Order: sequence, then structure tokens, then C-alpha cells
Amino acid sequence: MAARVLADAFDEVTVLDRDTLPDEPVARRGVPQARQIHILWEAGRATLEELFPGYIEELRTAGGVVINGRRDFYMYSQGDFLAAGSEPFQLYAATRPLYEQLLRRRVSGLDGVVLRGNCPFLEYLADDGVTSVKGVVIRDGGSEKELAADLVVDATGRTSQTPNWLEKYGYTPPATEEVHVDLAYSANLIERPADDRRMIGVLAEAPRTRGGAVLPVEDNRWLVNLHGIHGDHPPTDVNESKDFAASLPTPIVKDLLDDRLRVSDEIAFYPFPSNRRYRYEELDRFPDGLVVMGDAIASFNPIYGQGMSVAALEALMLHHTLATDDREQFGLRFFARAAEVVEPAWMLATGADFGFSQTEGDRPRGTAFFNWYLARLFRKAHTDRELTNSFTRVLSMQQPPTSLLRPGVMWRVLRPGQRDKQASLRESPHNHVASHIEDDETDPSPREGNSIDATDGA
Ligand SMILES: Cc1cc2nc3c(=O)[nH]c(=O)nc-3n(C[C@H](O)[C@H](O)[C@H](O)COP(=O)(O)OP(=O)(O)OC[C@H]3O[C@@H](n4cnc5c(N)ncnc54)[C@H](O)[C@@H]3O)c2cc1C
Repeated sequence: MAARVLADAFDEVTVLDRDTLPDEPVARRGVPQARQIHILWEAGRATLEELFPGYIEELRTAGGVVINGRRDFYMYSQGDFLAAGSEPFQLYAATRPLYEQLLRRRVSGLDGVVLRGNCPFLEYLADDGVTSVKGVVIRDGGSEKELAADLVVDATGRTSQTPNWLEKYGYTPPATEEVHVDLAYSANLIERPADDRRMIGVLAEAPRTRGGAVLPVEDNRWLVNLHGIHGDHPPTDVNESKDFAASLPTPIVKDLLDDRLRVSDEIAFYPFPSNRRYRYEELDRFPDGLVVMGDAIASFNPIYGQGMSVAALEALMLHHTLATDDREQFGLRFFARAAEVVEPAWMLATGADFGFSQTEGDRPRGTAFFNWYLARLFRKAHTDRELTNSFTRVLSMQQPPTSLLRPGVMWRVLRPGQRDKQASLRESPHNHVASHIEDDETDPSPREGNSIDATDGA
């Protein structure tokens, strides 16, 4: 996505990856999370569509699933499923390798862009005073090579070496915030009827350390996730996985594992020790010719599925930063914009994590109140469709979490509760009737202000 916006500003863009870049949708070593569920929210969809018009149609043609959220998305929280919202919304689901394959295809078709696999990045090249990055050193075919560049983008993900490099060359490295969760994910692949696009979330929520999620993906399959926080990790054995699923507060995940044919007995496992955020935006000094983005700036507890959408929005911020002719303090100006994207996602992910007393890290002020408030909002949303709408807008990253504190929402959350006297509005996903017709709900409008045509600062 960075390459797409760089191609507007530079004659040549070279995308380097340490992996061989396959033509097929296969999981790569360099993306070890690739076998785990990856949901794409509306903010990511709208941004990808801006950058690569027609991308979602290509995804759908390749088997990716457009989910009618109001009908097919079941979210369990605080003892029941949230009511279906009154507003239509859509979600986008595929395996991570499919999103990547289609994106790589589009990127490699861009004028001036070259993709080079098997080229691990080793070091930055810099001028004598190390005030400016001038390119990179890579390994290519067994030997080291230098590649000059006007701008280098570090998109190496969670293993980014930029903080170490800055320190080595006399810069103050960015302050690091780390929120330890000792989380792990597992992924099971099972068969799915073509017309059944149910998506289910029974996320771990304090004090319950276990959760699960079910995502419809291409080839008529469901990716069934199990997860556990603070060391309560899901197993990688089929029968033990069913026992783990049976311990969730609703049987739907276990029932799907029992009733559907497994595509494979292999269960992919992925540990995620901590949320990590580098505060590049707080630095006073940063070399010219370099920016950092994506997970290399911040990687979140993936439970809310925000990472790809955040990366997409950051690419848009890179576009806006490039749109001014001024290259002075380029990195710092980009980081200020990227922080606006990171902040709400960080707040949502780590806020939920601090609901667990075991979570270690800098607890932002107001977290205890917000978690109490959110738990109450979820309980009210069992019967209040408007509250489901409000939360969905946050989840799909169209609104920041602070939008849940607006007076209209707050009134609904805080008014005296009738919950126990009312039946939940949401039927169990067990009673779901699969749709044999295509959805006729119109696409929700893209997130305001994320147009690539917007002028700088808009
Ligand atoms: C378990 C799990 C589940 C997730 N679920 C979701 C979800 O549902 N929805 C969502 O939006 N996000 C999700 N995410 C987050 C998402 O995976 C990341 O946020 C996103 O991939 C970040 O993109 P990135 O390009 O910054 O880094 P990555 O996708 O990690 O890519 C980094 C790339 O850099 C390459 N690389 C690394 N080092 C070098 C080097 N030295 N030289 C050359 N190349 C190098 C790698 O090969 C790789 O291609 C999840 C994450 C995890 C861990």
C-alpha cells in the first residue's frame, strides 16, 4: 500500500522482501500470522478501494466473502449476543494469503514499481553525518548490495530494526510502550456451505481469558479461531481444541467444530506476547529520507482485527505527507499524521486488555471507567439496536472509541437498565437461516476524510 502512494511521487519504487514473493495465495515465513483469521473492516476496505479501485470485486471473484453484518455477524459479549443493529454494514473476509496475492498483483502492475523477493534488508545507507538515509544495504543472491534511494520506508513489521539503528547512530530512539498480554491464537479450517456466511465473535473479555471467532473465507471454508490471554493458550490437538471451544460461554464454536468436516487436522498456532507501540511522533530529531509504518510503528492485540486497516490508513497519511513539496522533517511530519490513525486503534485494543488485572504496562487514565462503561454498553446492546450501531462504527474504524461517549450514546448506556426483563433481540446463531440470494444492501459510504484526492491537511 505504501508502494502504491510512493508510485505517485517517485519515478521508481522498489519493494524489497526477504521472502520469495509467490504468485499463488500461500502463507509466507515472513508473515507468520498469515494462517490466522484476518478480517478487513470498512475503513480498510474503503482505503484499499481508493488505492486500488476494483480490489474488493477482485477479492470477491477470487472467493473472498462480503458479509452482511446486520444479518450474519454475531457478537457475543457480557452474557449474550448483541442485538442486530438497525443500520446495514458489511465486512470483508478472506485468508490473509488471498488479500496479499491480489494486492501484490496490483502493485506489480503499477508503472515504475518493481517487486524483489529474496532480498533481505540489512542496514540503512546514510550520509557522513548520519543526518540523512540515502538507501539500503540488501543481501541479493548471496552477496551484499547497496541500493540508493531518495526515501526509504520501513514496513518490516514487528521485527523492525529502526529503533536499534537510531540508537546505534546517536539518535534518541522512540519511547516504547508495551502492554503484555501473553496471548495466543490457533486456527482450524473447516468446510462451510456456500450460502452460509455466518461470522461469529466470542472474544475473551475480563475475567474470561478464553475466546473464539469464526470467519467465512474463500473455497467454502470457515477459519475457526480459538484464543487465550495471559497464558491460557489454545491447544493444537483436534480433540483438545474441541474441549477448549466447549469451555466458551456459548456452544456455537464447539458445535461448528463438531458438525463440520475438517479441511485438515493441522492447527496453526501463533503466540502474541504484547501490544507494542513506538512513539516516533514524540521525537525531536529523525533522519531525512526515512519513514516507518504499519506494525513497525505499532502492533496491537489482534482481537479487534485492526492492523491491516491501520496500515492502509497510514498509507493514505503517507500520500498526504508526500502531497506537500516540502521534504523538510518529512519523517516527523508523517509520524504526527500516523499517530492520529494509531491512537484510536491502540486505545481500543489496550483498553480491553487492561480489563484483565494480569495485564502489565502503562495503564492510560480513565481505562477502568471506560471498561466499566463498555461492559454496560454491551449489556444494553443485547436489546438496543442503536447501541450495536454505535459500537459497530467503532469496530469498523469509521468512528473513534471516544464517539461512544457522545451524549446520545451515553444516555442510552447509563439510563436505568431493564435488561433482565427483556428478551435478547438476537436469536442464537444456531437458528440462522442461510441466504440463497445475494445481498441487496448497498455499500456503506467510505469513511469521511480518507480520500486520496483530499488536499493535504484536509
Ligand atoms: C494473530 C494475528 C491476527 C491478526 N488478525 C488481523 C485481522 O483480523 N485484521 C487485521 O486487519 N489485522 C490483523 N492482524 C494484524 C496484521 O497481521 C498486521 O497488522 C499487518 O500485517 C501489518 O502489516 P505490515 O506490512 O506492517 O507487517 P507484516 O504484514 O508483518 O509484513 C512485514 C513484511 O516485511 C518483511 N520483512 C521483515 N523483515 C524484513 C527484512 N529484514 N528484509 C526484507 N523484508 C523483511 C516480511 O517478510 C513481511 O513481508 C493480525 C495479527 C496477528 C498477529
